Amino acid sequence: MRAVGAATEQRHCDIAVIGGGPAGSTAAALLAERGFRVALFEKSRHPRFHIGESLLPANLPLFERLGVADEVRAIGMQKWGAEFVSPWHDWASRLRFADAWGTSQPFAYQVRRSQFDEILFRNAARRGAQALEGCRVREVKFLAAAGAELQVQHEAGGEERWRARFVVDASGRDTFLGSRLQAKQRNPRHNSAAIYAHFRDAQRHEGSCAGDISIFWFEHGWFWFIPLADGATSVGAVVWPYYLRSRAKPVNEFLMDTIALCPALAARLAGAERVSDAEATGNYSYACDRTHGPGYLLLGDAYTFIDPVFSTGVMLAMHSAFIGVEAIDACLRRPAEAPRALARFDRQMRRGPRDFSWFIYRVTNPTMQSLFMTPRNYLRMRDALMALLAGDVFGRRPFRASLLIFKAVFYLSSLAHLGRTIRAWRRRRENIRDHPAANASA
Ligand SMILES: Cc1cc2nc3c(=O)[nH]c(=O)nc-3n(C[C@H](O)[C@H](O)[C@H](O)COP(=O)(O)OP(=O)(O)OC[C@H]3O[C@@H](n4cnc5c(N)ncnc54)[C@H](O)[C@@H]3O)c2cc1C
Repeated sequence: MRAVGAATEQRHCDIAVIGGGPAGSTAAALLAERGFRVALFEKSRHPRFHIGESLLPANLPLFERLGVADEVRAIGMQKWGAEFVSPWHDWASRLRFADAWGTSQPFAYQVRRSQFDEILFRNAARRGAQALEGCRVREVKFLAAAGAELQVQHEAGGEERWRARFVVDASGRDTFLGSRLQAKQRNPRHNSAAIYAHFRDAQRHEGSCAGDISIFWFEHGWFWFIPLADGATSVGAVVWPYYLRSRAKPVNEFLMDTIALCPALAARLAGAERVSDAEATGNYSYACDRTHGPGYLLLGDAYTFIDPVFSTGVMLAMHSAFIGVEAIDACLRRPAEAPRALARFDRQMRRGPRDFSWFIYRVTNPTMQSLFMTPRNYLRMRDALMALLAGDVFGRRPFRASLLIFKAVFYLSSLAHLGRTIRAWRRRRENIRDHPAANASA
């Protein structure tokens, strides 16, 4: 990387990408391949920690198209499905991607994000993007004529000015443009917080289930248990904000106390040792009111994030890059086609979060828990559910009718247990209320 001194120097690129996570690195690689001059700015240095380690089968074709499938295979733990464990049922339920409607991808991977994100970032550089680490974008000024000027700060202290024809915001939960344009809004229908750490020597399942994600419900929310290829296990609790606010102890102790509230998980961690400090994150459920504007697009978490429960974040981030690149190509090379391309981008950006959110909002509902604990395949309801959970939301979706039947069964079953349904609805309404203290990172 070149040394930077004077603040007056101006550099040029076609496209400036803010953020070298899955969305930004994917977009930068694809745009560079199309012959654009791309500058990819990442404020940290890879490898760096990031939460979000469980991927979906729908990620695999994206790896192939990016040319990183072998590298991801080398660091990944195969994940063939998900196990659900509930304190209100005395069995565990196992759902397999192999059952998904029309599947050609029966497994996914669990990955250490430090390794995974580095693979994608280096791939962008290999494909011709200028991949700059330790470079934080401080300001973006959109120019009346077209394009934008960016002010970039290097970790060594120097500053640079860049001129770009187009800006891609892939800054994740920093929501660089969304925040500055006041386009970011708290999700009024969801509110949760997370606390997590890595463990060594957690008890894994035998055979092909060894890499499956386990979801444990408990009184205050649910836990993930994600086995990684190097023997570590990522464990996190996703809880209602009131529970995180009740913390009166250091985060490490609080996490261990929380695990003790879930005996089935505690049993799998009985001989395990925590090998990282626990981290806590306040409410992270939000969306921007737009996916793009003149001269820019928002990708991945820079546009929206709802909840980690179905491991959709990385897939949606990478997919947003694939569709975003088509729209940018139209904007810069075929302006007459730009309005249609942007409208298509907008539709697809909203579709994924919308399709998953119906399930996300109900995941702690007792009726939904029963449906997951006793999955039935009447009229291929289970196969349709698994197609959705595998991330198959952007294609033809021949399973839509069966998914509607699943939803109808949910509503009928909720009616059949009206008292329980009303109690759950009241509790949820109280829990998702905005409490400012819950919205800060702990
Ligand atoms: C508790 C929790 C658990 C999760 N678990 C999962 C999971 O199991 N599976 C899953 O798929 N998803 C999960 N997610 C979601 C997942 O982490 C994100 O959806 C995913 O990382 C989004 O990718 P991205 O590229 O949009 O953003 P990010 O991965 O956040 O990347 C953004 C990058 O931008 C950089 N950046 C930010 N601001 C600037 C700036 N001004 N200048 C330069 N660089 C900047 C950041 O350093 C970062 O590297 C989870 C999220 C949470 C909160």
